[in-house]
Amino acid sequence: MSLSQALSLHRNYFGVEPKTAVFAPGRINLIGEHTDYNGGFVMPCAIDLGIWVVGRIVDGESRLMSDSAGPGKPFDTTNTDRKPNGWSKYPAGMAWALSDPFGPMPNIEATVVSNLPMGSGVSSSAAMELAFGKLFQALVGFEADARQLALLGQKCENQYVGVNCGIMDQMASACGKKNNAICLDTRSLEIEYAPVDPSLAVVLLDTKKPRALTDSAYNERRSQCEAAASAMGVPQLRDADLEMLLSQKAKLDEVVFRRARHVVTEDARSTAFKVALAESDRNGIFALMKGSHDSLRDDYEVSCPELDAMAESAWLAPGIFGARMTGAGFGGACVALVERTREEAFTEAVLMSYAKATGREGEAIVCSIDDGARILQS
Ligand code: ADP
Ligand code: MG
Repeated sequence: MSLSQALSLHRNYFGVEPKTAVFAPGRINLIGEHTDYNGGFVMPCAIDLGIWVVGRIVDGESRLMSDSAGPGKPFDTTNTDRKPNGWSKYPAGMAWALSDPFGPMPNIEATVVSNLPMGSGVSSSAAMELAFGKLFQALVGFEADARQLALLGQKCENQYVGVNCGIMDQMASACGKKNNAICLDTRSLEIEYAPVDPSLAVVLLDTKKPRALTDSAYNERRSQCEAAASAMGVPQLRDADLEMLLSQKAKLDEVVFRRARHVVTEDARSTAFKVALAESDRNGIFALMKGSHDSLRDDYEVSCPELDAMAESAWLAPGIFGARMTGAGFGGACVALVERTREEAFTEAVLMSYAKATGREGEAIVCSIDDGARILQS
């Protein structure tokens, strides 16, 4: 997939030349899972898989095409109360979110081409939001920095699409930096870039198990976290640590206690991971990523047999530095850090062992860490 494919699909479908081209990446989260809605620490990176959008301003309704999802439902940016069904919600929602600070957005004709799997834990939804944010920015010419576009992407997803996500995905797609992980404080939105040793490859291990219906489980986890914070008298779980949690255990329901234990220990692991990564400390990286997976499986209960089988296969494969489930869970993918010289032996061993354990054919994609959402042509 590439810009040239987006341009030729656009010409074929709309019969005209688009004016503008943009790209927004997906993301892989190295560590810090389910902490972003608790004000905590995360460490994602933008990857070289993502979404290209080309388009132009038109009179009349907005019309869209996607190589992977087909034609989008038409919508009108001057009447944002009428929400389109299906994937057009993302561009329509971005037009709606952007119109608050920047005035009404124009109607567009746009084509989407993507090599980012949907619903696999690499956040195709945030890439859609940032891609359309950038497209409107290129077409209209308003000033907005990466952080502001990320916040508007989250507003689109929370309030227009209706998914109650945190800020990590949009910040990662917006603020990515080549060969660097993003150490993000999800409360202050402060970023520190952490170079990733070029001898390490980031490998996406897709279980090919479609994510099960996760909305209710996700919302339940969020309210359990809020219940734990409020029982301990802190604004968010970010403000607690394991010692405080253990001292207040009696106040908490058993399940709520385990949910909170995941979040506070995951924040500690994220902080420690930054140091381990900087030192390319193999044992440290391995233990912290495994600790994250174990905690997501046992305390937060968002793993599934396929994610467990993939992670277990990766832990035993040649060249492994560390692996764990990534993304919200209940299906989707694992992330692994692997010695670059052994990535082929690694992926072969993992996929074979995964197939043996589950009877499923997984997919391994060796990714590069890339820059954030950008205008390619305006
Ligand atoms: P993810 O984990 O990939 O973010 P979501 O369920 O949050 O999963 O978002 C996936 C949704 O985003 C799809 O159902 C679709 O509506 C939209 N989407 C993602 N990629 C594309 C694309 N290439 N073309 C059209 N819509 C897309
Ligand atoms: Mg998403």
